[in-house]
Amino acid sequence: MYTYKIAHDPGINTLNKNQNTIGPISLNMMEQELQLIDLDIPELGYLKFISSWLYRGSEGTFLMDPGPTCTIPILLKALDRYQVKDLDWILLTHIHQDHAGGLGDLIGKYSNAKIVCHEKGVKHLAEPSKLREGSKTILGDVSKVYGNILPVPGKKIHVLDEVPFGDGIKVITTPGHASHHQCYVFKNWFFAGELFGAHIPMKSGLYLRPATPHRFILEDYLASMAKIEKYLDPKTTVCFAHYGTANNSKHVLICARDQLKLWVKIIREHKDKKNTQELIEILLEVDPIFRRYKELDLQMQKREWHFSVNSIMGIIKYIEEKKMLCKTTNK
Ligand SMILES: [Zn+2]
Repeated sequence: MYTYKIAHDPGINTLNKNQNTIGPISLNMMEQELQLIDLDIPELGYLKFISSWLYRGSEGTFLMDPGPTCTIPILLKALDRYQVKDLDWILLTHIHQDHAGGLGDLIGKYSNAKIVCHEKGVKHLAEPSKLREGSKTILGDVSKVYGNILPVPGKKIHVLDEVPFGDGIKVITTPGHASHHQCYVFKNWFFAGELFGAHIPMKSGLYLRPATPHRFILEDYLASMAKIEKYLDPKTTVCFAHYGTANNSKHVLICARDQLKLWVKIIREHKDKKNTQELIEILLEVDPIFRRYKELDLQMQKREWHFSVNSIMGIIKYIEEKKMLCKTTNK
């Protein structure tokens, strides 16, 4: 039987300390097929948050989400240390700047790589003016830190249901976090992007936080979760875009779906009387998975608080838009 090699210890939900690209790469790590590459941005306090997945096997190599332009030097250094001369495929979970902003820069150095993204992303990668504008408006100074977004030659970009790599990498379009979001299944790994929100590996158990910035549409999110269910089972590991892995993908899906529904319910009940800070405090009380926030270090708490506010704002806007829609259709 084939045994899958991954840079994380199977069976536990914590990270190998040596995973950081800063440290030396041990022989053991060189043998691992799937590797997480940290793309830390200390300037933003983003440590163990943005990352790429690198696969090197007998079939060839692929990279999932190259990250923003500012961390491309870290990525190149890691690829060099892992002796990756050629990348066969670069797979994108979505085209947000922290996942794909550096693609144009990377493709200049790995020009043989073929790119896979959602059909809605193709024109924006080839002509990124709208992407730049959108990122600037939504992220402000953070977008500046992420760096410029260079165009990608359109002929390199492919829209596929299955990537012809090994026995095939299944591509599943999963709108929700973004309309141009997709997930990938390869061997016993499920590359979730942000379908299950953000994850932080913790010793005490699963930590998840919904990633629902504006424009969040609950129905799309739930439909995507239903769509991927048949690909998941207890033996499949989730590889998150943010961050790390969790075993038992089926269990993770159930937790993420319950959490999303809970957040929408709680925010719907309280949004008119409570401010965002109070909403987060209620969520910390009622959501046992989000409650592990209290065990995070201060820097991670600050980051998670910021993104929780974004997610809550996305949910509030969704609820209000839905109310408006009901009012106009009832007239
Ligand atoms: Zn995103």
